[in-house]
Amino acid sequence: MVPTNTKNFDTLVVGGGIAGLQTALDLGDQGYSVAVVEKDASIGGKMIRLSKVFPTLDCASCITTPKMSAVAHHENITLFTYCTLNSLDHDNSGEDSGNKFPGINAPGVKATGLKALITQNPRYVDPIKCIGCRQCEYVCPVHVPDMEQGGLSATKVICIPFSNAIPQLPMMDIENCMLCGQCEKACPTNAIDYFQKPERFIITAKTAVITTGFDLLPVRDNVQYGNAKIPNVIDSLQMERLLAPHGPYNRVLRPSDGMEPDSIAYVQCAGSRDKSTGVSYCSRVCCMYAIKQAMLLSGSLPLADIIIYYMDIRAFGKGYEQFYQNAKAMGIEFIKAKVARIDEGENGQAQVRYELQDGSGIATADHDLVILSMGMIPAWNPGAICPVSKDSDKFITSIKPKISPVLTDMEGVFVAGAAAGPKDIVDTITESGCAAMEAAKFMSKRLVEN
Ligand SMILES: Cc1cc2nc3c(=O)[nH]c(=O)nc-3n(C[C@H](O)[C@H](O)[C@H](O)COP(=O)(O)OP(=O)(O)OC[C@H]3O[C@@H](n4cnc5c(N)ncnc54)[C@H](O)[C@@H]3O)c2cc1C
Repeated sequence: MVPTNTKNFDTLVVGGGIAGLQTALDLGDQGYSVAVVEKDASIGGKMIRLSKVFPTLDCASCITTPKMSAVAHHENITLFTYCTLNSLDHDNSGEDSGNKFPGINAPGVKATGLKALITQNPRYVDPIKCIGCRQCEYVCPVHVPDMEQGGLSATKVICIPFSNAIPQLPMMDIENCMLCGQCEKACPTNAIDYFQKPERFIITAKTAVITTGFDLLPVRDNVQYGNAKIPNVIDSLQMERLLAPHGPYNRVLRPSDGMEPDSIAYVQCAGSRDKSTGVSYCSRVCCMYAIKQAMLLSGSLPLADIIIYYMDIRAFGKGYEQFYQNAKAMGIEFIKAKVARIDEGENGQAQVRYELQDGSGIATADHDLVILSMGMIPAWNPGAICPVSKDSDKFITSIKPKISPVLTDMEGVFVAGAAAGPKDIVDTITESGCAAMEAAKFMSKRLVEN
């Protein structure tokens, strides 16, 4: 069915990570109306899920939450969370745009440049009635793995995704719900709605900024590192959660048995710079976040041995080389080696087999906990959804990578942050400001021309 519900904005920002939030604020502050469409139940992206951030070691939550809150309370910004972007294309009202969602250009829909078809996915909770009291969560009897904590602890089938999520709305994992009705009985405002359906609507905008970010290569696809079946071999985002103040155990423990790890190893370039995984490029931030995590670990577990197996250390940003030197001075060991494989060892340990880069041969070592710095891949594939081009690395193409890296090959559509390629927060923020400026320029030029 063609949706008739249309909302008009100046700019559509796709993705509510730090890039999307910064772009929305930079445009909203200039008076433009902005819609932020986020696929997750909360805005904040990867940054809100980090522990501390290099090179300043600021608490990630403390610096991301105010931005999330500023966006949520901004008079010119409207948030659409837990939404799917079904299509984004130029608006050819009345004509058959030949697009993948026939009927999207329904008669009566005002043409303003770009048109997006969005689906609001059901939370099974009425957002108007819900007061965020969490009574539904407290009484729910069903526990499921908490993916917000990297699957390292449990949560309830109906819950607010994490403590500082925005919006503070619970959502129900209907697949695992027993339909016992306890949440419905406990809700003081009758907000539980088991029959909620997906709702489709249209957003029209003059410009769009794609800020869909990145994901990590899944460990389960990596045969030489055990396909995620070796206990105590985790990825770097799971380690961020172990180090975070509101992490799964409130301290760093080995997931399989709750032991405090004595020997911890980082495997760098796990998937990156490796043609066999499809990630032939450098993921840019792994050296720095591994160093950061190792420093945080040596603070919380001062007696633990921490080793980083690396190919090269790429400390590219301002203050980053000093950060690396500080880590060495703290006693973190750096071994220049390529880890060839990881096997299950004894007593919950993981056995790392590595080739030393100085040609002195192959060695093995047992560690209590191994962290894989997996390669970064794009979180979104425009595929049939949007005609914007991708590079050979599958990130969004920037048509002027040197002089205006945020320009895509779709008129009025810009890109910022890790959606255009792996990058750190500093570069993401800079690029987001640039995308907001290009979008504003595009809109004011259009105003003059018309
Ligand atoms: C383990 C680890 C530690 C790190 N530590 C640091 C650090 O200490 N310092 C530092 O500078 N950098 C660090 N980084 C890098 C940092 O995470 C990135 O620079 C930053 O997250 C990029 O922000 P972004 O908004 O571009 O992408 P993301 O954070 O990935 O946000 C993208 C958002 O878009 C949403 N989205 C995706 N697809 C869609 C879609 N189709 N529709 C709607 N929404 C969508 C996602 O759900 C997400 O909310 C680290 C990275 C990792 C992996």
